[in-house]
Amino acid sequence: SKSLGKNSFHFYSQALEKEALTQLAIEQSLRKAIENNDLYLVYQPKVDLHTMKVVSVEALCRWTQEDGTVIPPDVFIPIAEQTGLIIDIGRLVISKACLQLVKWREAGIGELAISINLSCLEFQNEALITHLIDTLTHHKLEGKSLIIELTESIFMEDKFSVKNIMLRLNEYGITFALDDFGKGYSSFSYLQFLPLHYLKIDKAFLQDVESSSSSAAIAKTIIDIGHNLGLKVIAEGVEDQFMLDYIKTYECDLAQGFYLYKPMLPEAIESLYLVNDPSH
Ligand code: C2E
Ligand code: CA
Ligand code: CA
Repeated sequence: SKSLGKNSFHFYSQALEKEALTQLAIEQSLRKAIENNDLYLVYQPKVDLHTMKVVSVEALCRWTQEDGTVIPPDVFIPIAEQTGLIIDIGRLVISKACLQLVKWREAGIGELAISINLSCLEFQNEALITHLIDTLTHHKLEGKSLIIELTESIFMEDKFSVKNIMLRLNEYGITFALDDFGKGYSSFSYLQFLPLHYLKIDKAFLQDVESSSSSAAIAKTIIDIGHNLGLKVIAEGVEDQFMLDYIKTYECDLAQGFYLYKPMLPEAIESLYLVNDPSH
């Protein structure tokens, strides 16, 4: 009926308004958080499946508000993308990750590489790439200590310009992982065209490996594709022994997940490394 339509429109616009307000509120406090240096990185270990040793860590951005509320990146990264704040976050992530590498190098655990996540907007921002190279050279860091994780959405961008940026960074020794593979627009021609080093299986396939034979087949197939293209394959979202056994059976190279290690503060990584390797 007419009145129902009007009512539902009313509710709809109210909901939208509320959402817009929340977005705006988040945007404003995110801007402040960036200025106040309230964003920080936690690190999740990646394990070599042959040795079961931690070989690198993924830097994941966190935002703890003054009242202690932790806002997850899934909430603030999209807003940062819409508002351009993502570039400021990128600068911050690059600076913090490189400083961490310096600290770890000084602490004698310089073998540990850090991977950072860069969205398409970040990766194609010339100033940000320059900042990355400047920071790396300023600290005399080896590029091989840095891995950049890109998602499949990079396949929607101009492949020649993307490849050029990758090759430029590659000259410093920086390597690349394709994140969330299989989730979005998976293009085999891009996979072949871009100078990638790692393929990360999207965690959705792995999580269904026990319950869904098609997900299990996809996970296994992605490992094969990666290997056939000369890439190392990383399984993320490993949550139990079943998943771990499965990826080991199909000779996946690296693994990451709550079952192995949770994302943690740098101090926890340090003590873990000391426990892991008594020679240090
Ligand atoms: P991602 O790059 O796919 O990162 C992996 C996410 O999976 C992380 O969520 C991690 O905490 C979570 N995870 C790790 N192990 C497990 C597991 O065993 N099970 C499950 N269910 N999840 C697991 P997080 O930290 O909430 O980050 C979410 C997303 O936000 C990231 O997904 C990434 O796309 C984005 N993100 C995080 N930090 C940054 C950043 O510094 N820059 C950019 N551009 N994006 C970031
Ligand atoms: Ca990632
Ligand atoms: Ca991922």
